[in-house]
Amino acid sequence: MIFRQLFDPASSTYTYILGCEASREAVIIDAVFEQHSRDAALLRELDLHVKYAIDTHVHADHVTGAWLMKQAFQSPIVLSGEYAVEEVDIQAKHGMKLEFGDYALSVRATPGHTNGCLTFVTQDQTMAFTGDCLMIRGAGRTDFQAGSVHTMWQSIREQIFTLPASCLVYPGHDYMGRTASTVGEETRFNPRIGGDAREEDFAGYMNNLNLPHPRLLDIAVPANMHCGKPSNGEISPPVAWGPVTKTFAGIPEVEPDWVAHHLNDVYVLDVRSTAEFSGDLGHIDGSTLIPLDELRARNGEIDTDKPIVTVCQSGKRSAMASQILSAAGFSQVANIPGGLLQWTRLGLPGLIVELPVMPS
Ligand code: FE
Repeated sequence: MIFRQLFDPASSTYTYILGCEASREAVIIDAVFEQHSRDAALLRELDLHVKYAIDTHVHADHVTGAWLMKQAFQSPIVLSGEYAVEEVDIQAKHGMKLEFGDYALSVRATPGHTNGCLTFVTQDQTMAFTGDCLMIRGAGRTDFQAGSVHTMWQSIREQIFTLPASCLVYPGHDYMGRTASTVGEETRFNPRIGGDAREEDFAGYMNNLNLPHPRLLDIAVPANMHCGKPSNGEISPPVAWGPVTKTFAGIPEVEPDWVAHHLNDVYVLDVRSTAEFSGDLGHIDGSTLIPLDELRARNGEIDTDKPIVTVCQSGKRSAMASQILSAAGFSQVANIPGGLLQWTRLGLPGLIVELPVMPS
C-alpha cells in the first residue's frame, strides 16, 4: 500500500493518504483546507486519484480540505451521519467498508470526543486512524461538541483496545512531534486509559484537563458544517496570470506549452551560463540571460510588469531562480518544468539556435 503521513504545523493536524499501487485509487483522511495545494500536488506526483475524501469527525481546530478535494478529484466526502453537515456524500456508519483498489478501510464508531467520531481500520488490522479518539499517550478532549467521557471510555476500550496489539495507531493530531503508536503500547502506557485504569480514573483525568477553547473554534466549526466549502462557493484561483501550480517541493510551475503560446505576456529569464545560452539547445526568443550565480546580485536589472518565467536546461537551476526571485519580493514568478530539454522534446516554437560560424 502507498502510505503518506502529512502534517499541518498551524493546527498540529495529521493528514493521511492511503493508495493502491495497482489501481492508483486512494483515500485521504482529514485533509486541511490551507494545505490543499500541497496535498493535491503530492497526489498528482504519486499518480493517485482520490476515491474518498474522509473526515474522522467535525473538527473544531482547523477547516477541513474535504470540499476542495471533492472539487479537484470529484471524490465523495465521507463523514459520520451523526452530524447535520451539508455537502456530505456518504454518511459513514459503523461496520461500513470503504474500498480503494485492492485495499479497504472498515469504519468503527468511536464517539466521545464528538458524537460522530469515527475510526478507520485497514482490512488487515495493521493500521487504525483514530482521529481525536485515542491519541498517542492521550485522548481527544470531551468537554464540548457533544463530547462524553463515558462514551469515550467505551469507544477506546471496546473499539480500539480490541484491535491486535501490533496495530499501528495514527491519530488526528500530535502536539509533541510523535507520529504513531500501537494499540499494545497505548494499552500499557497511555497515562489516561492504559494499565490498570478504571473508568473513574479516566474520568478524573479527562475532567481536569482545563483546556482553553480552540483558537479557531468560531471559524472552523461553521466552515466544517459545509465540509470547508467557502461561503461564496468559489475556489480562489492560486494566481490570476496563468495556470500556475505548485509542486510538492513548493516550486511554482507553468507548463512549457502554455509559455510557448504566451511569449508576449511573460518575461522569460534564462539562468544558464552565457556559453549555454548561445549553445546547441538555443534559447527562447526574447529571453533575458542572467546566470543563476549572478541572480541575487543582479535581480535589480529585471524591470518588468510581466510575470517572470524562469528557464534553464532541465528546470533545476531555474527552480532555484524562482525561489531567489520570490524571496527578493517578485510576486509573479514560475518555473518551466523540464527546462529547454522538455521544450525541445515537445517540439515547441520560439527557440532561437545560433548556428556556429564555420570557417570558410
Ligand atoms: Fe477534534
